[in-house]
Amino acid sequence: MTTTTELVAYEEALATYDPVMGLEVHVELGTRTKMFCGCSTELGAEPNSQTCPTCLGLPGALPVVNEIGIESAIKIGLALNCEIAEWCRFARKNYFYPDMPKNFQTSQYDEPIAFNGYLDVQLEDGEIFRVQIERAHMEEDTGKSLHVGGATGRIHGASHSLLDYNRAGIPLIEIVTKPIEGAGERAPEVAKAYVAELRELIKALDVSEARMDKGQMRCDVNLSLRPYGREMFGTRSETKNVNSLRSVERAARFEIQRHAAVLNSGGTILQETRHFHEEDGSTTSGRIKDNAEDYRYFPEPDLVPVAPARAWVEELRGGLPELPRLRRNRLREDWGVTEDVMQTILNAGAVDPIVATIAEGADAASARKWWMGELARNANETGRALDELPVTPAQVARIAALVAAGDLNDKLAKQVIEGVLAGEGTPDEIVEKRGLKVVSDDGALGAAVDEAIAGNAAIADKIRGGKVAAVGALVGAVMKTTRGQADAARVKELILERLGVEG
Ligand code: ADP
Ligand code: MG
Ligand code: ZN
Repeated sequence: MTTTTELVAYEEALATYDPVMGLEVHVELGTRTKMFCGCSTELGAEPNSQTCPTCLGLPGALPVVNEIGIESAIKIGLALNCEIAEWCRFARKNYFYPDMPKNFQTSQYDEPIAFNGYLDVQLEDGEIFRVQIERAHMEEDTGKSLHVGGATGRIHGASHSLLDYNRAGIPLIEIVTKPIEGAGERAPEVAKAYVAELRELIKALDVSEARMDKGQMRCDVNLSLRPYGREMFGTRSETKNVNSLRSVERAARFEIQRHAAVLNSGGTILQETRHFHEEDGSTTSGRIKDNAEDYRYFPEPDLVPVAPARAWVEELRGGLPELPRLRRNRLREDWGVTEDVMQTILNAGAVDPIVATIAEGADAASARKWWMGELARNANETGRALDELPVTPAQVARIAALVAAGDLNDKLAKQVIEGVLAGEGTPDEIVEKRGLKVVSDDGALGAAVDEAIAGNAAIADKIRGGKVAAVGALVGAVMKTTRGQADAARVKELILERLGVEG
């Protein structure tokens, strides 16, 4: 259905046209309660069990603003180098949709809490690209509709719809960039890098988990093309609710190719919203959205203006964490890894677990090795994030310490990790219960060594004859009979000793 869209090859499109982008990112805050009432924001509850007259929009109900919501908005604004309004108001954005029982969304319009900022993002080649921020404003989420009875879960063909208002009123911050110009062929990369950096920033501020896969952060990608040298922007399309970093990049790329095809054929780009399709990276038309769209915004009469005291704002500024980009560079140097390796660690969500494991006493290399190896593999297989695995940094550090002390080798350590993940107990308990200690005691190893020599006479002769490298085969045989528990270095020494060869 979507593959019929005409596209121009990417390089060809960029040879003719200069892309301009605008990114609107919605972040769901991690507050315990909703933005304007005391209802819980916990996920997974029975539909409509977390509602009250205020978030259901019943007549006479009055909203009260969530202080943590405001605080989070200010922190985000400050981290984005924005000015913080001395005085601003909420506004009603009026429209009807069943998932919004009040028939208006409480949002901000011409008086956002934060404005005029920027975020520096690092591109793959190391270059820093500055994205200008127009505004960050506060608003609330809508409920969820579930269309039942149709084949696709869409409203078309459905027999009825169910509504769950548990999400209605959960605080959102919308962060809007100024038009991003000058990115050229790297526009899709800039879009992805910006959203990635913003996500890291939000997480560092501890105001949201910012999980795109859980819808806690979603991005609208506005894009237009203009001929090189022309100052006026072309007409934009707005691809809505893109929910992964990769999709942000693909959506921008696809729209560049699609716009170019339309423009090349003498057509006009419609100002419309579009839907992104994960399967093939395409977009399809949503609704026409011209500038005549009128939400009849007006200041919210039921809420007092927000006038954050300057002292409070300065206190929040003083408490801002180290910027993710700078922290990443610092850690990369501390750990002695390349940009590429650091990127892989970041993509795996392993930065914080590794930092925590080092804080528990492990050295950087082993902390990295276990989180990026055995643990990442398990997380992958079980569809969990690293920080969702039932293992603590302290336990990983303990395993690393056992390896460093020679009590475990890598193979045994993997079995210990497997035990911890299976809930068998602490590393020490598992070593004990499964009997996983490295055997380096000569008495215990001697018999296995003798057996290996006797069973591999030809190899033993080769070693005696001076081919010391062949000792690996005998060490392997001993490891096999001891089920991987022998101290390999000691085994090698013993074999060479027995055969009367210098190591
Ligand atoms: P809307 O409310 O319709 O989404 P906004 O002005 O809030 O409009 O946001 C539009 C986003 O698109 C902003 O990031 C803005 O910088 C950007 N933008 C505006 N005009 C263009 C254009 N012609 N091409 C690309 N991006 C644009
Ligand atoms: Mg928009
Ligand atoms: Zn409520």
